Amino acid sequence: MLPFKLIYTDDYYLPIGSHVFPAEKYRRIHDQLLAEAVAEPSDFVTPQPASDQDILLVHTPKYVQKLKTGTLSPHEEMEMEIPYSPELVRAFWLAAGGSILAAGQALQDHLGFNIGGGFHHAFPDHGEGFCMIHDVAVAIRRMQRDHKIRTAMTVDCDVHHGNGTAAIFAGRCNPSDPLPSTSASTLDSSRRGKMRHAHAGDVFTISLHQHNNYPAWKPHSSIDVDLPDGIGDDDYLAWLDNALSSGLRQFDPELLCYIAGADPYREDQLGGLALSFEGLKRRDELVFRVARTRNIPVMVTLAGGYAQRVEDTVTIHCNTVIAAKEVFPETVSS
Ligand SMILES: [Zn+2]
Repeated sequence: MLPFKLIYTDDYYLPIGSHVFPAEKYRRIHDQLLAEAVAEPSDFVTPQPASDQDILLVHTPKYVQKLKTGTLSPHEEMEMEIPYSPELVRAFWLAAGGSILAAGQALQDHLGFNIGGGFHHAFPDHGEGFCMIHDVAVAIRRMQRDHKIRTAMTVDCDVHHGNGTAAIFAGRCNPSDPLPSTSASTLDSSRRGKMRHAHAGDVFTISLHQHNNYPAWKPHSSIDVDLPDGIGDDDYLAWLDNALSSGLRQFDPELLCYIAGADPYREDQLGGLALSFEGLKRRDELVFRVARTRNIPVMVTLAGGYAQRVEDTVTIHCNTVIAAKEVFPETVSS
């Protein structure tokens, strides 16, 4: 039995038809974890959908109303890049419920793992890039509302910038004047990555992403690491280590929300970085080890993954569970 819970339901499936987003990946991850004896049936917990009140902690009443009544404009639906349906709304409410549950489990067991979620491109008033609802932000705001945490940190390792996350958490204080850009001097300057810092409110946001990729407009995270095309395992891990160290010098979170995108993989169709399976697993281990060393509870969500072969995306996500199991080998009692 795992020392943490895996939050999952077959209803995470997104009814979006034939699409570059492999909506069946959730079920395949679940099945592979069982088939390879990484997990057993009792490790899985079924989430309930988030309530509308939970969703409204992040999203505007107007946007929620449009989703509930099927009245998005054609432009709004196009921007979301997935076809609207009431069933899709239910799947996103479930993903948010799953992330709320995973956050609660993290505070209890040190780690909570949502086999879903990570929809980091959703904004308060609209959806974007396959994301309707920002489940991670909903979970954070719910934990804060329930006085379970005051502060949180998001660590976004999807290949795409966490624009929704940055926009949602930027407004609380110091909405303007980000600090000047700085570079990490310890890294090879020829790689031309860049680390940018901005002020943080009660949620500190870190995004490591390919600079030359969607979204074109990247609102400031607390730390943005703009990576050059084609970066490989060692450079990526050095930047991640650097960003985590820098973030945790500046900020002391009560919950770390790890957005474990599978799309920095070198064979991803929507990504332009060059990480290997091993590099991605070392990435997961690094995040988990840093959190464990500092006794910060971790909530995991999956985010993107568009490998040519869906089984590669599934393996990368399963490896994140295996990395968690290796770093958190037994329950950390509180
Ligand atoms: Zn992505």
